[in-house]
Amino acid sequence: MSERAGVDGDALVAFTQALVRIPSVHDPERGWNEEPAAELVAEQMRVFGWTPEFDVVAPGRPNVIAVVDGDGPGPTLMFEGHTDVVTEGDGWTVDPFGGEVRDGRLWGRGSADMKGGLAAMLYATDALVRRGSFPGRVVLAALVDEEGMMAGAKHLVASGRTDGVDAAICCEPEGGEVCHVAKGALRLRVELTGKMAHGAMPFQGRNPNRAVGSAIAALAELERDLHVRFGEHPHLGRVWVTPTVLRSGEAVQMNVMPATASVWVDVRTIPAVDHDELVDELTAVVVRAAADHGITVEVEIIDDRPAVATPEDHPLVRALLDAHGAVTGQPARLGGVPGATDGTVITSRGGVPSVVYGPGGKWIAHQADEFVEIDDLLAHAAVYTAAADRFLRSGPP
Ligand SMILES: [Zn+2]
Repeated sequence: MSERAGVDGDALVAFTQALVRIPSVHDPERGWNEEPAAELVAEQMRVFGWTPEFDVVAPGRPNVIAVVDGDGPGPTLMFEGHTDVVTEGDGWTVDPFGGEVRDGRLWGRGSADMKGGLAAMLYATDALVRRGSFPGRVVLAALVDEEGMMAGAKHLVASGRTDGVDAAICCEPEGGEVCHVAKGALRLRVELTGKMAHGAMPFQGRNPNRAVGSAIAALAELERDLHVRFGEHPHLGRVWVTPTVLRSGEAVQMNVMPATASVWVDVRTIPAVDHDELVDELTAVVVRAAADHGITVEVEIIDDRPAVATPEDHPLVRALLDAHGAVTGQPARLGGVPGATDGTVITSRGGVPSVVYGPGGKWIAHQADEFVEIDDLLAHAAVYTAAADRFLRSGPP
């Protein structure tokens, strides 16, 4: 395999394989977490001559951070990746943690999402250093819990690690698109409270289940209304309001009208939508629907990830577009991230503009027989090196 833009391709593939072979699913029952993958990342950082630091987010769940200083004043660029992967699940025709290379592809859970991207950012930074001097600095962040509540990214921001960072590349698989916008997400729990009663005497109670039906119909109405108001974003599509989980009553007590029922709602938004206003509106809609049944409502916000956007003319967006074109010979495409990533937290909470760009297909994440194309992996590493070089030379700060 060749060296592209000074990236050691063979070593990059071997390191990605080693990462995939570590089952870094956060699964306390199986005794699995991110720690061994974080240690492997830190070990490779030391080989490159950097000094990794561990920020322990939770027991067995450390973020790994390394700062690589250039040779003079200049901007600070962060590369971000996550060490956790989702559970392997069923339906695999290859070993999910085998890291097998076959047919020009590297197979396994996390190969695309996102151990390939994580490995690429390390080897790209090493190539940048070996090319000669550069201004500013590169910060490498390998975080935990992206697939959960993004505790790693939240910890990164809260502990001041994003202070002074001018822009961040999140190395998630986006199929070659330079994603400067990402969809927002709200996770809500709607609790409906009525009054318990015997099924033989329902008139003595107030049934929250009837209110669930009305509430779900009202949410569909709200979604239609949001479609009219906000239309379709060119990279992110529409706003979605999806009831995902219902819980109420007990199957063994089918003669009992329960006192409470819960509906979990997954809301996906675009940058034009203000989350606080939307939660207020959604709450009002559900309260009205439930009131007809004498049911009271409380809405709990479980997670709030606003949609984020970095301007198309931001120096990092330009650097990635130019570098992608130069390395691959193909014109770069702008795109949007359909879900939230650590970049969402880094931008919304840390105030750092982020762009998501990384090896692997956009839709392969979390599926059985996940893979990353070797060519794609090498090309992205080369683009990272070239984009970092362009961005760091783009001037102050
Ligand atoms: Zn990911």
